[in-house]
Parts: sequence; structure tokens; C-alpha cells
Amino acid sequence: MVHAVREIALKLKKEQVRDKYKAIRFDEYLEMIREDPRLIRSSYQRLYDMIISHGTHSYKRDGKEITHYRFFDDPFGEGEDAIYGIDEALKNVVDIFEGAAKGLGPDRRIILLHGPVATAKSTIGRLLRRGLEEYSRTDDGRLYTFEWDVSNFNDEPLGIVPCPIFEEPLKLFPQVDRRELLVSLNQIFKEQYQAQYELDVEGELCPKCRFYFNRLMKHYDDDLESILKHITVRRLMLSEPDRRGIATFEPKDKKNQDEEELTGGMNWRLVQVYGSDSDPRAFNYDGELCVANRGLFDGEELLKLQEEFLYDFLHATQEHVIKPKKNPRICIDTVILGRTNNPEYKRVKANEKMEAFNDRTRKVDIPYVLRKSDERKIYEKFFQGPRVGGKHIAPHTLEMAALWAILTRMEDPGGDVTLLQKAKLYDGESIPNRTVDLQKLREEAREEGFFGVSPRYVIDMISKAFVNDREGCINPYRVLAMLEDNLRHNSAMDENHLDEYKELLEIVRDELSEISQEEVRRVISHDPRELQEVGQKFLDHVMAYLNDEKVEDKYTGEEKEPDEEFMRTMEKQIGITEAQKDDFRQEIANWISERARKGESFNPEDNDRLRRAMEKKLWEDKKHNINFSAMVSDKSTDPEHKRRKGSWIERLKSEFGYCDVCAENVIDHAGAEVAREELQRRER
Ligand SMILES: [Zn+2]
Ligand SMILES: [Zn+2]
Repeated sequence: MVHAVREIALKLKKEQVRDKYKAIRFDEYLEMIREDPRLIRSSYQRLYDMIISHGTHSYKRDGKEITHYRFFDDPFGEGEDAIYGIDEALKNVVDIFEGAAKGLGPDRRIILLHGPVATAKSTIGRLLRRGLEEYSRTDDGRLYTFEWDVSNFNDEPLGIVPCPIFEEPLKLFPQVDRRELLVSLNQIFKEQYQAQYELDVEGELCPKCRFYFNRLMKHYDDDLESILKHITVRRLMLSEPDRRGIATFEPKDKKNQDEEELTGGMNWRLVQVYGSDSDPRAFNYDGELCVANRGLFDGEELLKLQEEFLYDFLHATQEHVIKPKKNPRICIDTVILGRTNNPEYKRVKANEKMEAFNDRTRKVDIPYVLRKSDERKIYEKFFQGPRVGGKHIAPHTLEMAALWAILTRMEDPGGDVTLLQKAKLYDGESIPNRTVDLQKLREEAREEGFFGVSPRYVIDMISKAFVNDREGCINPYRVLAMLEDNLRHNSAMDENHLDEYKELLEIVRDELSEISQEEVRRVISHDPRELQEVGQKFLDHVMAYLNDEKVEDKYTGEEKEPDEEFMRTMEKQIGITEAQKDDFRQEIANWISERARKGESFNPEDNDRLRRAMEKKLWEDKKHNINFSAMVSDKSTDPEHKRRKGSWIERLKSEFGYCDVCAENVIDHAGAEVAREELQRRER
């Protein structure tokens, strides 16, 4: 036990920041900032550099170059903090911080993250807060503040008084002298750090510090050097729980909103000590805007604030000051970030009285994810580890839930592109033999991503499927049923869209059925020898067709024309029309010569479209010989049936990630589909 404590203690000590407790003289600090002028960065500059410090990479999507900031990939490994699928929106956020760092205007605005419920808005806020905490502990991100030694005055019971809002020590220099110093610091910053922006330390000292400054000025007959001997510079570690430089805020209901919550107020005990309610020492600098100084103010549902208080934000953003009642103004340096949902935003936007406020916000849209694969990642991240409790999640469960969610968020393109096709296009798939202008589709759908079902609803329903499960396996049919059954009982659901959401569930079920059938088809028809044979035959005939040659019959050695009927049956399996057949055959020939040129051996199974065609063809040939209804009703005691079914289940498990439960399930489902098709055919 003692040993364990010692080990933890040592580890803690190693992780500690190097000059955490060090007392630094003011003249030492001046040396430090000459060496590294980044120490005096503004809150916006530090935040921007923090994000950049995690690195970026770029990639191409739909012909567009997209920058991805690694900072948004759950950098602290805390679980659900990775953000997927909204790189463009995140870049807009970072661009605004960059503009603010350069003093181009956003530094005088409330930065408002706007979007429907349960987008990544809260995660962005949480990440920025955590990111700043961590960054302030590193050498690159460090910053400093100061405290007063006033123990030589008999009437100062505390003796040591830290600046209540952790101000930058350079603020102790009168503004004129600061300018001169800043010119030389910026010179160093430019030469040694390839500065992207200009450093500035603006505003005067807080009222409390100004009080001590003036008192000491009087004491030392205006000798600044003597005053600075009373200053100890300290490292400042930003910390949300310690209320240092990071504040969160959520408006209470209207009656209980209290201005002092933002600006701070009088401390009545200290008013008695100092004998005046306008003594700056008797003020509590504990309003959230004071707490946020040097770092970040992060406001949830910011626009629910009463109008009167919104003016506090105007001063804080536009002029970087707070104006508490009965007290001098306080200069602050903090990033003001807010979040809002659409209805609130529209309400405030329509309010003429709020025009000044609207003018001073910079809105960034944070939409829902519109790519199925990105939405699925959100669920995957959630349903892992202990939450899954050792249960199996059947293939396509999360994928189909994600497909439904994004379909509810999309605008129907109309024309000859279906909603489902559009969803596939967004996810990087293509519609066979068609070219669609994706850019145009996107531009036509302006509201897209700002309505529809939230990931929260879907996650709740999948959780519910987990709770209700008795089989040890969660399958997509059950999850889709959950999604449907609870639509009406969900208060967050828009009543007007319920029927539409149900129709979309039908589209998803059809898609699921098609995918499952394809998989079942693949395992049932799978016979490597047969595939090889039929594939080779197809290739021989295609090559002969293209080169205007004959094909030699394997057995008789007779020269024959290429078998058009055979080739067409294969091609029809994957929707190749008569008009498209020449292109397809050429494509296959090119694929072969490409392989041959690289000296690679080839197997017809390696070509995706060809493989699907072969499997479907073999399936068509075989399926009538399989007694599906017997298998579906499971009354068959025929050992041959059992053996075959057992081998399919094994293949579903090894090839597609099914478990015993869901493999049996999917064979039954797909089998029922086939039985139904057969019945229809007979009726025709
Ligand atoms: Zn101060
Ligand atoms: Zn399963």
C-alpha cells in the first residue's frame, strides 16, 4: 500500500508543470517575455495556437480540398469527444478564431455556434475548454499573472493579494511605456517565431490592482521601480474546476437571472471592513465574465438570456470591458463563445430591440451529419466497451439506423434522383452508369442538416433495444422497430413529420432486405470452383467478342461464336443494359490487361462487379433447388438441409461478422423474401 502511494506521488510529481510554484521577480519576467514573446498572447491568439498545435491534414472530397483539424479527434482520449463528419463547419469555427487572433473583427464579436439540438455544439465547447487547460500546462502554451505584497501596510490584513482576475503582468506598465515595449517584443516575435499576428496587451489594470498601484505610487512618490518590487509573477494554469480563466454559463429561468452572476458584485462583509461600498477591494470579482479572463467564456443556450443582460455581453465583446453597478469598469480579455438552437436564434433575430446584439454576433452553423458513414461512427463510438455488455451487434444495425437518421435530415432532390440515391452519393458512392452534379444537389438544399432526427434519439432507441434484448444479439430489424414505435412518444419529435419518418423507415427496410439477401446469396452460392469456372468462361467470351474472334469449345475443340446469351444473363444480374454492354465488356478487358501489365495474376472474383454478377448468376441457377420454405419453417429434419444451413451460418460468421443468432435470423429473413418472390412468380 505504502509503495503504491509512493509510486502515484512520484508520477504526479513528474507530471507537474515546472515553474508551478516559482516566485518570479518582475524584471525576471521581462527577460522571459523577451525570450518568448508568446507568453503575452491574447486569449484569442492562445486559443487559435492551441488548436493548431494539435496539427492538421487535408484530403479531397467531391473534388474539394478539405482541412481537418486533429484537435477535434478526441485529443485527450476521454471517450465521446471525437467529432465526425462536419470538417467544413469546424474549419469555419477555426477560421473565425484565426481572424480574431489577427484582430480582424471576430475578437469583438460573440461567436455563436448555431444548429439543431444534439449536434456537436456542446462537444466543441467542452473540447476548447479542456484544450486550453492542457495547453496552459505546456511550455508552448504557458501564461503568467501576478500578486501584490502589501504586508508593509498595517491595514491590509491579507498581506499577499493576487490580482483577482489573473491579469497579464505587463499591464502593470502604464499604457504609453507598454507601447514601446510591445514594438520591440513584436519585432522579436516576428523574427524568431514567424508571427502570424501582432501582440498587444490592451486595457488598464483591474480596479483592485489599480487601487494598490496608486497606493504604492503615493507611498514611493511615483517611483515605478519601487512599486514593481512588490510584485511577484506566478504561472497561471487555466482550470475550469478552479474557476481560473475558464467559465461556463447557462441562463436560469427569466425571473432568477441575476446580473451579478456575469459581472460580480459587492462583498458586504468586506464593505464593513473597508468602510465603503465603492472600495474596489470590497468587490467580488467572481462574475463569470471575470472568471473567464485570459481564457474562455462558454455560454449554453446563450440567447435565452434576458435582454437587459445581453447588453453586458455587448460591452464585453465590443469594448472588452465589464461595467458592474457602483464600480469602475473592468477590462477583460476572453473569448466569448455561445451556443444556441434554431428557435431561439430566430426569435432573437426577429426582435428589433436586439439589433445591436445581432450586429455583434458571428454565427457559425453546426449542422447535423449528412454522411451515413460519419453518423455511424458517432454510434460506434457510443456503443463500445462496457455499454455493449458483451452483446453482439448484428451487421448493418448501426449502419441502417444511421441511414434513416440522415434521410430524415435531407431534402428530396426531386427529378430522377431518389432520396436514397442522394444519400449514397453524399457518402461517396456512385449511381451505376450515371453522373450527377453533386455540387448542384447540395446547393439546391439550403436548409439541409438543420432539421430531422437527432443522433440522440437514435442512440436512445439503440440503448432501449439493448435493454430489452434477451438473445445476446441486437439486430437491425429490432432497432428499426424501436425507432418506429417510439416516434409518437418522443416529445422532441416534430409531429408534422411523423408519417414522413415512417415512410423513410420503409425505404431503409427495403435497403436492408436487399443487402441481407445479397449476403445470403453470396454464402449460399459460394463455391470457389464454380465461380472460377463461370468467371473464366465469361472472360473468354468477352475477349473473343471484343477481338472479333471465335471461342474454342473445351470438349469438342470446335470453334464457336461467343455466346451472347450467356454474357447477357451475367450482365443483366448487375443492371447492365444492352446499350451499356460494350462499355462494360471493355472495362473488364481493361481491368485484365492492367493486371497483366503489372505482372499480377488475376482471379475473376477480384473484380467487384464481375464477382457480384457471377454470384447472382450462380444464385439464380441454384436457388430453385433449395427448399427454402422447409428451412424457414424449420420443420425439416433432413440432415442434408441441416448440414447446408450449418455451413452457410459458418460463412456468414467468418465473412460478414454475424453471430449464430443473427446469422440464423438473416437466413430466415432472406429465405422468406425468396419464398415470397417465388410465390409471386408462380401467380404471374
Ligand atoms: Zn488585477
Ligand atoms: Zn449477432
